[in-house]
Amino acid sequence: MRSDADGAATELSGVWADLIGQWRAVAVLRRAVDGAEHAMTHAWLITGPPGSGRSTAAKAFAAALQCQWHGCGECQDCRTVLAGSHPDVTLVRTEKLSIGVDQIRELARRSAMTPRMRKWQVLVIEDADRITDYGANALLKSIEEPPPRTVWILCAPSSEDVIPTIRSRCRELRLVSPTDAAVAQLLISRDGVNPELAYEVARIAGGHVGKARGLARDLVARQAREALLKLPTQLDSVGACLQAAADIVAKSESEVKAEVAALNTRERAETEALYTAAKGGARSREAQSALKRLDEEQKAREKRLQRDRLDSALTELTTWYRDVLALQLGAVTIPPTAADLASDSDSDTDTEPPAAVAIINLSAYADLTAAAAATTPERTIASLDAILQARRAIESNVAPLLALEAMMLTLGGQ
Ligand SMILES: [Zn+2]
Repeated sequence: MRSDADGAATELSGVWADLIGQWRAVAVLRRAVDGAEHAMTHAWLITGPPGSGRSTAAKAFAAALQCQWHGCGECQDCRTVLAGSHPDVTLVRTEKLSIGVDQIRELARRSAMTPRMRKWQVLVIEDADRITDYGANALLKSIEEPPPRTVWILCAPSSEDVIPTIRSRCRELRLVSPTDAAVAQLLISRDGVNPELAYEVARIAGGHVGKARGLARDLVARQAREALLKLPTQLDSVGACLQAAADIVAKSESEVKAEVAALNTRERAETEALYTAAKGGARSREAQSALKRLDEEQKAREKRLQRDRLDSALTELTTWYRDVLALQLGAVTIPPTAADLASDSDSDTDTEPPAAVAIINLSAYADLTAAAAATTPERTIASLDAILQARRAIESNVAPLLALEAMMLTLGGQ
């Protein structure tokens, strides 16, 4: 059908519509779908920074391969692939920490099956960076000698995250971070977000489409972020610093507990059901040890999720100090927005759209300028260092509260 490869001018439509800023990647996938000579490969590795749309691209590709019109987005094939219910497309998403050999063997078995709808047998692994070494060995053969109608699509943040033997047998397709403007445009045109909010969340999300969309939809999340960015102005005593650390840790803990509660219960019920059905019964030794293992896995997952949450809170906090530093160094000129003017006394007014500005937290402009005037660049750099240290400490399993207390004391200059 389409043989024009000049992606940039082509409107992204059908299953590709959400892949903003990914013209090049989409052009490659379209050529493969169209069956251009040498364009098809049986093992793909889609890489790209978080939020660039790896799994969106994988699913769009899978849908386009099954669709009679190469990815119209509306037919039965397209819709079922995107919904995860197409008989010839297996989507693997895991909430576990790793993808083990049993799961990979099952996939390899599937990969050898003739596609029921006579097109392609597609297997998508969203977190290929979590495949264990044994899993990778099991996958290897299937990727090396795939049946003629089988396509593997693996996704990972970067090719270095994937075991080398697997990586070397896949064709890598790199996605890029879309620009803030592209993200904002998508939110405006597809989700009906008002332009001011769209640009604000796009700037905050820094190229992460899902995060921008989530923020645009979620007033509570935006308020939580605003509250977090008030913190730097409130750390005026040792007590306030320690309280701030305790609050952040407690909040992340309760959020994660709420997030996984239903999942934990379901997994436990499934495990119990498995052993009730078997001879031993739910009270047998095997059942008890399986439940104990599950319990440990769930605890590890909670811990990881909590650390992820803390890390993203600290990343948000970093944007505040980064903005302060930019102001202190005069690295940006800030056209005040309407909201800023209300809280700003002197006015050289020249209201431009905020898109031209490198400041991320424009809505906190008054606080930022006050902070920039009240401290020195050296102190701001020390604050940025303190946050980075806390992130590293948390990543290397230091107790979160301890890491955050030390950080807050530095931020507060205590
Ligand atoms: Zn279709």
